[in-house]
Amino acid sequence: MQRTVHRILMACVAALAGCVPAARTGEPAPARASTPSGASAQAQASRAARAVPVARAYAAALAKGTRASDGSPGARYWQQRVRYRIEAALDPATATVSGTERIVYFNRSPDTLRTAVFNLYQNIFTPGVIRNRFVPEFEGGVTLERMAVGGQALLAKSAGPSGFPAVPGFAVRGTLGHVTLPAAIAPGDSAVFEVAWHHTVPPRGAFRTGWEDALGARAFVVAQWYPQIAVYDDLRGWDDTPYLGDGEFYLEYGDFDVALTLPAGWIVGATGELANAAEALSPATRARLDRALAADTGTVVSEADFASKAATAAGVDGRVTWRFHAAQVRDFAFAASDHYRWEVAHAEVAGEGGAMRRVAVHSMYRPGAPGWDQARSYGAHAVGFLSRRLAPYPYPQVTVAEGPISGMEYPMLVFIARPAKAEDLQSVIAHEVGHEWFPMMVGSDEASYAWMDEGINTYDEELAVRDFYPRSEPWLGDLGSYLRVAGGDAEVPLMRHTDLVSPYGARTVAAYSKPAVVLRALRGVVGDSVLARAMRTYVREWTWRHPRPWDFFHTVERVAGRDLSWFWEPWFFGTGTMDQAVTAVEPVSGGVRVTVRDLGEIAMPTTVTVWSGDGGKTAVEIPVETWLRGAREVTVSVPAFGSVTRVRIDADELFPDVNRANDEWTPAGR
Ligand SMILES: [Zn+2]
Repeated sequence: MQRTVHRILMACVAALAGCVPAARTGEPAPARASTPSGASAQAQASRAARAVPVARAYAAALAKGTRASDGSPGARYWQQRVRYRIEAALDPATATVSGTERIVYFNRSPDTLRTAVFNLYQNIFTPGVIRNRFVPEFEGGVTLERMAVGGQALLAKSAGPSGFPAVPGFAVRGTLGHVTLPAAIAPGDSAVFEVAWHHTVPPRGAFRTGWEDALGARAFVVAQWYPQIAVYDDLRGWDDTPYLGDGEFYLEYGDFDVALTLPAGWIVGATGELANAAEALSPATRARLDRALAADTGTVVSEADFASKAATAAGVDGRVTWRFHAAQVRDFAFAASDHYRWEVAHAEVAGEGGAMRRVAVHSMYRPGAPGWDQARSYGAHAVGFLSRRLAPYPYPQVTVAEGPISGMEYPMLVFIARPAKAEDLQSVIAHEVGHEWFPMMVGSDEASYAWMDEGINTYDEELAVRDFYPRSEPWLGDLGSYLRVAGGDAEVPLMRHTDLVSPYGARTVAAYSKPAVVLRALRGVVGDSVLARAMRTYVREWTWRHPRPWDFFHTVERVAGRDLSWFWEPWFFGTGTMDQAVTAVEPVSGGVRVTVRDLGEIAMPTTVTVWSGDGGKTAVEIPVETWLRGAREVTVSVPAFGSVTRVRIDADELFPDVNRANDEWTPAGR
């Protein structure tokens, strides 16, 4: 028999104040006199909703019209564009990458550019460079063999106070290259940069990139590997944030054509589509790839191919060039091994005009990696689920590559390590594939606001894991990690730059767990369908663009149709906690009177649920405005049919209340 649920969107505020209608998603309740009990004037003042702090650069962008107050890109929004052509070789024996690249840089800003900034990420492995992560004994760093713009070679110069040389040339400082241009790039104009470089890929033990000898073979995952032009945006101009390790990336969108040369027999997975299968693969491998792509699933390369190096073409002088093309991406990475098993599955996503489109999901792994025979199906599930939830996956393929890095995301490619337990693999793959939406599609500044990619993506990962394992409760882990630091000195606001967060546990809470927990609470505030619609709107409007936190806040408010400053300010800019408690339950005719106290620092709406003997339950809501007006204690009348067996606030456990023990009441003696 179905239990009856009486949901009453009406809150009876305090014994004396009568009932104030408070629609769940409507405007704030009309102001009524209420009598807060036990709250000092100071406490009342501190509860009033505070304005959301706005960065000066964002306020200036609103004034200029590059951003809009409703959270959509402004009428004058602009973004730079890049086109990379890279030719590089990886020598697996020495772990050396050497390459040349040609970058066409399109200045779509209204500014005349006299300088340029390059990210030289590999310099984080240079001895003596400032970083906030441990690096094993390893002498790394990028050697720039040539840098030219417009065909004119640039010479290394000493840096001026701003980092840029006083005369045309370039200066390297840590992970940044500062270029003073010989000729300015006018608005609407473009410039061609040419760079030749080499570097050594670090061994296992570094972060985000590396190689290892394991499972009987060497495998590489190669990232942050090419000199890359930095973002120039409407808020800050050149992003000259150094790469310190913890903070991730902020990247310009464009098209990549990349040729990667490796020894024959090495299998390469990469961002983009393989453009020269006929040249790179042996006829048998190519036939298996064609069959696998035409069918639902298939195996392209297996153990039988390893010894004979028969998977690839013979190549020239024993070396094979793999060519990849990727459109509308913000980065390019690759993985390689001569012992990769290569399997294919597919996900179905909505395409043009409602027709379904197939996305190839490739897995590449060394045999023996636990659980990896399921990797492609985990990937296919994540692509399908998140395509339905957020926006159709826009790229032709995604590759899940096994190697020394435990979970790192790139466009169309994720790096996953061997899990300690095979059953952990699904959630890691769901997380990393989820990054294809945030930040690969929605290109936020990850270092400044890690919650915008890691946090939103952790929330999505929980949904995807729950969809895959319907009886799991994946958010409990994130709630637990948040509660362990909540309100303590180790906690930091979500809005803090990731590189400025203490590494002692606080960073992962601020970047992952707490934002996931906060988004779950937001779902409790606006409802699941509204939050899902807001997310879809945000993804649609900011795909291949550079949103800031206020763009997200305003988009959610526009879709929800209400001001949520009272929510954003404490949860994103502060470290306060919430704690609501049921303090008294008094039987009255036709129901009960339930007293709720707000013991916390953050005001949140309260749902009081009453279960009665007939198996029914009734919920009433105390709107957040009641608490914001200063009330610390509220008594609500809840109708109940039969004797009351249980009273609970936040029965769906959507809010991160720091003390669950005081949330429930049952009749004495039960
Ligand atoms: Zn992540």
